[in-house]
Amino acid sequence: MQPDYHIHTYLCGHAIGSPEEYIEAAQEAGIKEICFTDHAPDPTGYDPINRMVMSEYPQYSDIVFRMQKEYPSINILYGIEADYYHGCEQFLEKWLSEQNFDIVLGSVHYIEEWGFDNPHERIVWNTVDVSNTWNEYFTLLGQLADTRLYDVIAHLDLPKKFRHRPPDEILKKIVEPTMDKIARAEMAIELNTSGLRRPVAEIYPSLMLLEMAYERDIPICFGSDSHEPHCVGYAFANASALAREAGYTHSVRIKQRKKELVPLPL
Ligand code: ZN
Ligand code: FE
Ligand code: FE
Ligand code: ZN
Repeated sequence: MQPDYHIHTYLCGHAIGSPEEYIEAAQEAGIKEICFTDHAPDPTGYDPINRMVMSEYPQYSDIVFRMQKEYPSINILYGIEADYYHGCEQFLEKWLSEQNFDIVLGSVHYIEEWGFDNPHERIVWNTVDVSNTWNEYFTLLGQLADTRLYDVIAHLDLPKKFRHRPPDEILKKIVEPTMDKIARAEMAIELNTSGLRRPVAEIYPSLMLLEMAYERDIPICFGSDSHEPHCVGYAFANASALAREAGYTHSVRIKQRKKELVPLPL
């Protein structure tokens, strides 16, 4: 089973279960390597309800380092999911460089003030132009890549969550410049299986976008985006199958922010 590089903890306030339970779920699923990637704290007050506060951050590192000691039979990496938004570099540039992360996932969860993937703000989709919205989202992802602060793009086509999506030809045009930036930044893309548990019922990203990534030699890794222990490694066989369908034969292992190609599981 491939590593699961997207796992949350209770510190973000919207995940349940103890870190031990996530690790035990990984072991039951036959996973030999995981990375905790909880939502990064942000001292500027960005999206405070979905993340640990700054003063809780030492608890987060303590949890991960303690788990590494308590579970020597599984490789436990230290990571973070950091949102990109205009101005985030001010804090992230310095702070990320001071931490000893193995993996930094880069995410976009907001278009201006709109939490477009938040079920409570889903209704806003009825008032916006879908193609424009996707275009704004991918523009932000392109800027994310240009910062060179992150290793992996999390849930690449997150705006599809509630099944709002432009037609393929338009979507392709929207995504192309951002894919080029991701390739140039030498970032990986995550196959995030949490989309299967959402209204869209698809892995992030779709086959079409994954093929665009493959054409550009953009490496891939896998993440369940678990906010509950039983989700660790969720549908990874489907994710491997999707990767192969797009042409991939390898994924990456990441450690200390360095990527290494490894064959996909059979
Ligand atoms: Zn979360
Ligand atoms: Fe996310
Ligand atoms: Fe996440
Ligand atoms: Zn996420």
